[in-house]
Amino acid sequence: DQMATVIDGKAVAQTIRSEIAEEVRALSQKYGKVPGLAVVIVGNRKDSQSYVGMKRKACAELGIKSFDIDLPEQVSESDLIKQVHQLNVNPDVHGILVQLPLPKHINEEKVLSEISLGKDVDGFHPLNIGKLAMKDRDPLFLPCTPKACIELLSRSGVSIKGKKAVVVGRSNIVGLPASLLLLKADATVTIVHSRTTQPESIIREADIVIAAAGQPMMIKGSWIKPGAAVIDVGTNAVDDPTKKSGYRLVGDVDFEEASKVAGWITPVPGGVGPMTVTMLLHNTLEGAKRCFEKNH
Ligand code: NDP
Repeated sequence: DQMATVIDGKAVAQTIRSEIAEEVRALSQKYGKVPGLAVVIVGNRKDSQSYVGMKRKACAELGIKSFDIDLPEQVSESDLIKQVHQLNVNPDVHGILVQLPLPKHINEEKVLSEISLGKDVDGFHPLNIGKLAMKDRDPLFLPCTPKACIELLSRSGVSIKGKKAVVVGRSNIVGLPASLLLLKADATVTIVHSRTTQPESIIREADIVIAAAGQPMMIKGSWIKPGAAVIDVGTNAVDDPTKKSGYRLVGDVDFEEASKVAGWITPVPGGVGPMTVTMLLHNTLEGAKRCFEKNH
């Protein structure tokens, strides 16, 4: 039996990052301005700080100006919203990202819906999600992780049109928008979630699997249709005493088993992860381009 082609998300991300850097240079020559991304973080959750750090660093590498807004855990909802409003009217800011999750006393839905539609680079504004769900409507921005999944498929030469796709998970940030994007790309889509009975028999039908359940190695090799394309979004820390950190990251898919059956598979880490930040930078570039062209 042939082994699956392992999709190198790091390499694809690097390619796209050079493409973005090139476009940023071109914009700067044409308009004398560069794209700007505001990254807002509330509190000091370690994981959030590490994600925000990666996003800011990636901006610097690509010539995108990053605006760093660090707010204390206790910040009030109204002060956070004021901050968002200021960024909405700042002409040097083309994208606004509010790192989730927010502290419990802040209403996430309310804050996200205050972000200007044209600067919603995470694609989480309800109007952008609504357009994603509607036929023949185009949202201004696609959510980054689902966009990363589709980009990995298309850059690996996997066609989506007419294929049976199964998305495992239905969260607002990954599963649901991933299923909507696949539908827009003309796949026939089934969503599996925690109340689905016999998920394996459904997943076994799929030509394309996007796994985003947050369940370490839940999807076994025997659940995969031979030759299927498997995109593993899951990023789960499991105990590993052989590591200095005491843990290692695994996906929602049992990679060892599944790579013997699938046609394509993404590793964890090094698959979807590096692509997600890249799609954020790409969205920021798109937002800036629209803005520069309009004001020109
Ligand atoms: P959530 O916890 O918000 O959602 C998980 C979804 O999976 C829910 O819809 C849940 O169903 C479903 N689910 C849970 N258990 C099962 C099960 N046993 N069988 C089938 N479905 C199940 O997670 P996120 O969507 O935020 O993230 C999913 C994974 O992706 C996580 O591991 C996360 O770390 C990772 N991630 C990776 C990113 C990257 O860039 N690589 C970015 C974002 C997330 P129900 O709705 O019924 O509860």
